[in-house]
Amino acid sequence: MNIFKPTWMIEKIYNLSAKDLNQKGITTVLTDLDNTLIAWNNPDGTPELRQWIEDLKQENIRVIVVSNNNHARVKKAVEGFGLEFDSRALKPLTVGINRVVRKNKLDKNSTIMVGDQLITDMAAANLAGVRGVLVKPLIETDAWNTKFNRFLEFFVKRSLKKKYPELVWHKELQ
Ligand SMILES: [Mg+2]
Repeated sequence: MNIFKPTWMIEKIYNLSAKDLNQKGITTVLTDLDNTLIAWNNPDGTPELRQWIEDLKQENIRVIVVSNNNHARVKKAVEGFGLEFDSRALKPLTVGINRVVRKNKLDKNSTIMVGDQLITDMAAANLAGVRGVLVKPLIETDAWNTKFNRFLEFFVKRSLKKKYPELVWHKELQ
C-alpha cells in the first residue's frame, strides 16, 4: 500500500458529520491544526467549525489536535475551542498519533486522522495504522517550508492520482 494514500478525501473537516462518523463506527477524530482546523489569518476559526466541534461533542465523538507545532503555539490556538491536543507530533512519524492512542487507550479501528498534507498527515496516519482523511488546505501560505512541502505534495499527489484514479474529492464521508 502507498503510505501517502488517504482513505477518504473530504473538502473540509466540518463536512465530517457526527451522523456519518457514527455510521462508520468512528469515535475519535485526530486532526492536524494548521490549514486543516484553522487558517493563519483566521485563528478564531469559522462559525461552521465551532458548530462542528459542538455537534461532535454532543455525540460523544472526541476531537484531538495532533500538530507538529510546539506546545505553546498549539495550546494558544486550541484553547478557545476547548480541544485536547498533542504537540511536536513529528508527523510523518507516528510519535504523536501513537502517544495520543496510548494515553487515551484509543482503538485504532475507530480513530481517524484528518489533515491537509499527504507527506505529513496521511503518511503518519497510514504508518500508525489509522485511516486518514485528506482535506483541502484552508488557505495557501507564503512560508518557505510550506511552499517546499506543497512542491513535494504536488508530485506525490500526481503519482497517487495516476495509480488510484478513484481518489477524488467528496463533500461528505461515503
Ligand atoms: Mg496542515
